[in-house]
Formats: sequence, C-alpha cells, structure tokens
Amino acid sequence: MNFDIITLFPKVFEPYLTESILGRALKNKIIKVKLHDLRKFSSDRKHFKVDDRPYGGGPGMVLKIESLVKAVNNALKGVTKSQRVKTKVVILSPSGKQFTNLTALNWVKNYKRIILICGHYEGVDARIKKIFKTEEVSIGPYVLTGGELPALIIVDSLSRKINGVLGKHESLEEERLGVGVPAYTRPEKFVYKNKKYYVPKELISGDHKAITNWRISHRKS
Ligand code: SAM
Repeated sequence: MNFDIITLFPKVFEPYLTESILGRALKNKIIKVKLHDLRKFSSDRKHFKVDDRPYGGGPGMVLKIESLVKAVNNALKGVTKSQRVKTKVVILSPSGKQFTNLTALNWVKNYKRIILICGHYEGVDARIKKIFKTEEVSIGPYVLTGGELPALIIVDSLSRKINGVLGKHESLEEERLGVGVPAYTRPEKFVYKNKKYYVPKELISGDHKAITNWRISHRKS
C-alpha cells in the first residue's frame, strides 16, 4: 500500500512513522509513505505562501487551490490509468464521512494508493473536491487544528490490516475476539495504596476454554 500525504508540516510525521510496527512495515517495504510538502508547490517563490483569506470574509485562512492541485498531481505522477482506479484521494475534514474500522478494511481491499490531503486553518479551497474525485473523511466528531493527526490515524489503521504488518504476537484482536478485551500481565496481585488488585482467576487458570469464554464475555464490542 502506498500512502501520499499532502501537508504543510511534513516533519511531524517522521517520529511516528519511524518507530514500532509502522517503522518496521516501512523498513520492510510493506507500506510506503511519501510526504508532499505543500509549500513546494506554491507559486510564490519568495515566501512559499499557500494560503489566502476566504471569499466572503472570516478570520481563518484557506489553503489555495493552485498548490493543492499541483501537489495531488505530483502524487499521481507515474500512476497509470489502471492504477488510478485503485487510487483514492481523500480530504481530511471534520465534516466528512466518519472513518471507521470498516472503512479501513474496505480501503485496504479496494485500493493500492491513498492520497491524504491535510487541511489547516480554515481548511482547503472547496474546488479541490470537484477537480479530483475525492471523499471527505472525518476521524471523529471534534475539530482539530490540522489534518496531520487524522492522516496518521488512517495510515496506522489501514496498515495494521495489511498482511505482514503485524507480527505473530500482534495479530488483529478484532478478528479473534472483538475490540476492547481487557488485558493483564504480571504480577497476578498488585498492591496500590493498601488495596489489592488481582488478575481475573479465569485468565490464570490455564484452562483455554475458560479464558476464551471470559474474554468473549468481557469484550466491549
Ligand atoms: N472550518 C473547517 C471545517 O469546518 O471544515 C475546520 C478546519 S480545521 C480547524 C483544520 C483542518 O483540520 C481541516 O481542514 C482538516 O483537514 C483537519 N481536521 C480537523 N478536525 C478533523 C477531523 N475530525 N477529522 C479529519 N480532519 C480534521
């Protein structure tokens, strides 16, 4: 899976993408992430400005259409007609369609390249939606300052569904038991402020059937 991320702040991605499971997936070339610095597509060669005031007034700035189009076209460079069918262009927006686990599964199944456009300030010039067949996607019912965290969330959530990304000790828990099964590790008894906290006895019973039943009955979804 190829991810292209169009952003004003490419540096914020590196720390997360180079560590742990995603870091390993990138190293093993199971996923590829290309960061496209929006400022590089600015026609303003002096200040590299990519935003402007909104028509109709208002306090925030809007990311300009010219640089956005150039950045998306750059991400699409080399993508053949047949590969384009398997490419999805996504605008991150708090008013978009809610991204869920099912969305992630469908995208992994149907696409080989996901282009994520991170908005900032007042968002992106709305014409970008018409120029490229895009989908507006929200990661939740709250407003963040930018699309960078939503983009990382989408990369993370899709990647862990791709074969080979999770190691044998990290298999998809939702495929085994569902999401939200409480987990415990040693010690069996933990004392904090004179109170004892125990691991449920079923989990230390060694009885696999009892363990599975306990997990199923305690999962949250
Ligand atoms: N006025 C804009 C609107 O209603 O769409 C809000 C822009 S928000 C302050 C700045 C950027 O953060 C958005 O363009 C989007 O890319 C990103 N963003 C904020 N919250 C988000 C969310 N819940 N899901 C996805 N992206 C979000």
